Amino acid sequence: MQLRVTSLPGDGIGPEVTSEAICILEEVATGFGHDFELDEKEIGGVALEKFGNPLPDSTIQACLASQAVLLGAVGSPAFDHNPRELRPEAGLLRLRQELGAFANLRPAVFYPPLAACSPLREEIVKGTDLLIVRELLGGLYFGTPRSLEGVPGERRALNSMRYSEPEIERIARVAFQLAQTRRRRLLSVDKANVLECSRLWREVVSRIARDFPDVQLSHMYVDSAAMSLVLKPAEFDVILTENMFGDILSDQAGGVVGSLGLLASASIGGPVGLYEPVHGSAPDIAGQNVANPLGAILSVALMLRHTFRLPKEAECVEAGVISTLRGGFRTRDLARPGERTVSTEQMGSQIAEFVRLAANTTGRAVS
Ligand code: NAD
Repeated sequence: MQLRVTSLPGDGIGPEVTSEAICILEEVATGFGHDFELDEKEIGGVALEKFGNPLPDSTIQACLASQAVLLGAVGSPAFDHNPRELRPEAGLLRLRQELGAFANLRPAVFYPPLAACSPLREEIVKGTDLLIVRELLGGLYFGTPRSLEGVPGERRALNSMRYSEPEIERIARVAFQLAQTRRRRLLSVDKANVLECSRLWREVVSRIARDFPDVQLSHMYVDSAAMSLVLKPAEFDVILTENMFGDILSDQAGGVVGSLGLLASASIGGPVGLYEPVHGSAPDIAGQNVANPLGAILSVALMLRHTFRLPKEAECVEAGVISTLRGGFRTRDLARPGERTVSTEQMGSQIAEFVRLAANTTGRAVS
């Protein structure tokens, strides 16, 4: 199979973690007999420096010509005082729109070797394996009118939360379909006791549920969901929610299972899937070869599963991550005091080695 991928390493630790993730994709391609074609382009701060634009046309064209995009991270303190449209993050928001990626999937999985990384007791977090399906192109982050105006001391700010029935329906269908591939339980999270948007959300999701009788649907207010996520995270399967609630709950879910550096995400629904770790550009540790590459590497597993429909290859990458953690390999963010740590590159090489060996024994037979 042909795997045509555009890589956008971006800023800070983005290039370090992306380079490890690309090595894993190369190993998968070689080991399982696929053709891998890679195009690398600029986004974020590096694109601003080179082109004066956080998302140059050449980057958009390359992304739209590929089947999947792997992004590192964007953001740099050097651009903190730029106007909104000339900040690195504006490039990422526009890319999501250009790719029509309205469904953001954020899995949060508890890995037993990392029990000590969770702030929760092991008996509470054990067994956590949830998937947040976040609507990515609507709600407060994109709604208009939006403004900040007035003289200092009397300024007013305005943002608009807007959702239409078709927007809710399309994300709900994605969530129901994903629930069908898992434990068939879908929790829709809203704030229907206060917000009109949420009342429409609940009504539309309940209507779509009739097309998926094998999935058990329930509803919860976002405040209650936030509390339950900490008290009983292992009880969740798929959580469907709007843009801002999903942004907040998915970081919380990340905190529940351990380091931010572990979390992967997929943004799908348009013609080209966008895969990226959940973390940012971490300027505080950039260039030191200490960043955790697992979020980027697990994003490759999501890419293999959702864009290329190669579940065996995805499972191989995930197994490599688990085996490496079981083997005691820890980047600095995962290590307990006194534990030996490895570099970004060493962590990546260890997983690449696992994939190489596993693919040699099973690869060509299964693909
Ligand atoms: P961050 O995720 O970059 O960092 C938060 C903390 O987690 C830092 O202490 C960092 O060192 C640590 N961390 C993050 N990823 C890590 C990894 N892989 N391994 C080890 N430690 C890791 O969030 P921030 O500090 O709030 O933001 C920094 C910049 O990133 C800002 O410019 C922000 O706008 C941007 N940002 C970008 C994205 C994205 O590209 N998707 C997401 C969030 C933030």
